Amino acid sequence: MLDALGREINYLRISITDRCNLRCRYCMPQGVPCVPHEDVLRYEEILRISRVAVSLGMTRLRITGGEPLARKGAPEFLAALRQVPGVETIAITTNGVLLAESLDRLRPARLDWVNISLDTLSGERYRDLTGVDGLAQTLEGIHAALAGGLAVKLNCVLMRGINDDEILPLTRLATQLPVDVRFIELMPVGAARDLARVPGAEVLEILKSAYPDLAPAATRGNGPARYWQSPAFLGRVGFIDAMGDHFCGQCNRVRLSSQGFLRLCLYHGEGLDLRALLRSGADDEQLRRAMEQAIGGKPEGHHLETGETGGLSGLSKIGG
Ligand code: SAM
Ligand code: SF4
Repeated sequence: MLDALGREINYLRISITDRCNLRCRYCMPQGVPCVPHEDVLRYEEILRISRVAVSLGMTRLRITGGEPLARKGAPEFLAALRQVPGVETIAITTNGVLLAESLDRLRPARLDWVNISLDTLSGERYRDLTGVDGLAQTLEGIHAALAGGLAVKLNCVLMRGINDDEILPLTRLATQLPVDVRFIELMPVGAARDLARVPGAEVLEILKSAYPDLAPAATRGNGPARYWQSPAFLGRVGFIDAMGDHFCGQCNRVRLSSQGFLRLCLYHGEGLDLRALLRSGADDEQLRRAMEQAIGGKPEGHHLETGETGGLSGLSKIGG
């Protein structure tokens, strides 16, 4: 469907849990306040919302969290999502720690992409950044996903003075494996406010020096990432520069929180309480009309540079 500004909204990002098995320093270093189980959407409720969303044209779905694979039954839920008529693509964003052990159960979901977050290749630093000794499991997840034929993208968030010495080692993964390595600018929300981002433009200059034949990739992805390629790469490198690059004019997405709030823009608080609607007995047509009206009014863009985050206190709440 189109919003009031004529943008085609065809992508729904669904957080299935606030909880996580890691404690990333820029995300939820102290963990998240426990949400009562009854406040979190049941899988059947998410499936119902998804059916309505797909009927409105949101045919590209991404499942995220918190850590989606940490929620019981996530692979079976993903398989059920795949059965929703009209769904075109299903992707998942995960920290990868539970990925290798989940792959067999994930097969029926026929995932189109798996995005795996990886900010360091040092085991000690991984423990320091996430609170968990999980690097080996994450790397195992990456290799197992590739061996299982899945398309893999790596999400790397750089922090000044913390892991910005790993730009080239992380990029080298794209020379060794058929993966897209994406550098995501740190967004100044919640715990990340105390950390310094590394601008994508700076990373690009470093990569251009290391790979003089680096050139913009012919095709742009369906999202905010800008890709570059080099004959040295089996995959590509990508940049998601939320601060330096306003991609709001091409924004194609809305987000559903694990508590059923449809958030229209990452950095605006407006949206629709779908859980309240669902649980007050709304039928599918009422859900559809409410979603259509809400999405029609999607805000024009964000003003992150002024510090305005629409009340967002961390990306784990809405899944990035
Ligand atoms: N737990 C999963 C994971 O880590 O991939 C999914 C949820 S996590 C919130 C989604 C993505 O958001 C991850 O790639 C993470 O690195 C990124 N992220 C979290 N906080 C961020 C911030 N302040 N700025 C930029 N990216 C952030
Ligand atoms: Fe968990 Fe992902 Fe947040 Fe790290 S970034 S704490 S893995 S939700």
